[in-house]
Amino acid sequence: MNAVTGWKALFADETTENEKKEDADLPLPVLHQGDRCQILETKIQSLHTKPPAPFTEGTLIAAMKNAASLVDDPQLKQILRESAGLGTEATRAGIIETLFKRQMLARKKHHIQATPLAQELIAGLPDMLTHPGMTALWEQSLEDIAQGKMSLAVFMQKQAQWLQHLVERGKAQPLPLTLPKTPDCPHCGGRMRQRQGKTSPFWGCVNYPACKGMLNDKATQSRKARRANQQK
Ligand SMILES: [Zn+2]
Repeated sequence: MNAVTGWKALFADETTENEKKEDADLPLPVLHQGDRCQILETKIQSLHTKPPAPFTEGTLIAAMKNAASLVDDPQLKQILRESAGLGTEATRAGIIETLFKRQMLARKKHHIQATPLAQELIAGLPDMLTHPGMTALWEQSLEDIAQGKMSLAVFMQKQAQWLQHLVERGKAQPLPLTLPKTPDCPHCGGRMRQRQGKTSPFWGCVNYPACKGMLNDKATQSRKARRANQQK
């Protein structure tokens, strides 16, 4: 495949010798209004914009690491670069795993997709909370605490105030969420909640202890799989 040289084509002669050294310093030719330039070539190309490739677990972890690229503010960008993005080497995989468990993420073949529940939650949350720049602000505060510029007590107090404010505001606005489908309780027909048993997760009735309805997770999964197959 031929590399597209773009504006570098203008300097094809000059760049051959001291390419590396001079490349960065070369000014574009001075142009004045009314200058006549020769058109060398025109092309009409029909192209389609493509959506970005869906994340895989690997690229999602890389994106968390490079969260700086998702932030516009130069100062926050710098902090995220220094703190190596969202989470740490030790916690990133666990964060993603938790999102799967809470049904915010779903696997589709090799790809990861945000579920409708996750999309609704993000849409309903205050903008600030959904932005990677938030992590940068907290990192900055932790750094200030480490350097003695701010006390931990002041930081915690500010956090508590802010949180209270967010909760009050959150209470005042509706948050429509499409909850993931859960099996019905075989005893009372109520909703069931997934719980962690000693060896594996199981479904327990939300009316426990009044109702002791239970389903083991494997049974519901194979039923789900059968249903999915029937729909195909
Ligand atoms: Zn029940």
